[in-house]
Amino acid sequence: MPASDRVKKGMAESSWIRRMFEEGIDLKQKYGADRVFDLSLGNPIVEPPPEFKSELRRLAENPTPGMHRYMENAGYPETRASVANQLADETGIRYTGGDIVMTCGAAAALNIAIKTVVNNGDEVIIFAPYFAEYFHYISNHYGVPRVVPTDDRFLPKLDALDAAIGPKTRAIIINSPNNPSGVVYQDDFLASLGSLLQKRSSQLGQAVYLLSDEPYKRLIYDGVKFAYPSRHYANTIIVNSHSKDLALPGERIGFIAIHPDCRDRVELLDGFVYCNRTLGFVNAPAFMQHAVRRLQAVSVSITDYQRKRDFLYDNLTRMGYSMLKPQGAFYMFPKTPIPDDVAFIRELQQELVLTVPGQGFGTPGYFRISYCIDDRTIEGSLDGFRKVARRYGLC
Ligand code: PLP
Repeated sequence: MPASDRVKKGMAESSWIRRMFEEGIDLKQKYGADRVFDLSLGNPIVEPPPEFKSELRRLAENPTPGMHRYMENAGYPETRASVANQLADETGIRYTGGDIVMTCGAAAALNIAIKTVVNNGDEVIIFAPYFAEYFHYISNHYGVPRVVPTDDRFLPKLDALDAAIGPKTRAIIINSPNNPSGVVYQDDFLASLGSLLQKRSSQLGQAVYLLSDEPYKRLIYDGVKFAYPSRHYANTIIVNSHSKDLALPGERIGFIAIHPDCRDRVELLDGFVYCNRTLGFVNAPAFMQHAVRRLQAVSVSITDYQRKRDFLYDNLTRMGYSMLKPQGAFYMFPKTPIPDDVAFIRELQQELVLTVPGQGFGTPGYFRISYCIDDRTIEGSLDGFRKVARRYGLC
């Protein structure tokens, strides 16, 4: 039986990131893994912090009966309380365990939140450059992705957002620190965004929910602080995970946190729990919920990421590549020296350097580099970047 039309369409439009990753595997087989420099995937190479290993040991040595069983679909009350306490400390907002639903990572959290708020044909606004999976997550639940541009500093254009919001708008997704641009939104921008959403929600007579996708919240450099969207707009639904801050992407542990003053909070929470169950996640992994309970204030060291960022940024800008210096996450998003970003990344690929074209993020004319990888790969890629820069007269 062939795959459905919907799935075939989704696969045909499938992510450039995956495509480059798969092409990388072929190249590694052909040329040898040590000659291919794969900067395409955001799969962190750092190990989880030592506190995580201590927790694993503690749990293994002190098992409690029932610790691997089903629990409430929203997750263990103790873990939800611990997530809420940390959020309340950080934001000053009175989150409690009742505002939290534990999920299989931010990906599941986004699917649950979108499914909960979107009717067939409703719109969810995203900003280019965007994390490409948003498109699939919105379509999964019969929503329509509506793309709004950002300015030359990759900040969402608020006048364009204002114009895009209409009766069909149910939610907008923001992501700071941003994948792929590395931009971190500041309080002044978030305050303007919050007022705009407040004004438009009142005019429409329905909430435009702000889905704040925050998995890179703790990966911020140069002393820049994370600014909390939830402080500026009560209809904020945080989606987050420990994929990046505890370096646990394979363990699929994350959460949704709804603002205590969010409109229709109780119905939304019931919806999240229902969707967690019926999308087939059932609940976030039990063992991981035990493991992260005491680790809400812990995260990986950013020193190594910042060093990698500085090394690559300094080298690439010296070669003539033009880009904003990323403030967070572990990506950079330089301009391609020619408008055709796919042709450009194919040239890099000839030099066995793998990156992702900007059109995979809705922004042609750029390319994404992921630097959450080992130093050898970063250093080894420089020759290829230099050769291609020379070819285009950058240096
Ligand atoms: N949102 C963004 C912006 C991401 O970059 C990713 C993963 O790379 C996710 C969500 C999904 O993360 P998770 O592993 O928590 O599902």
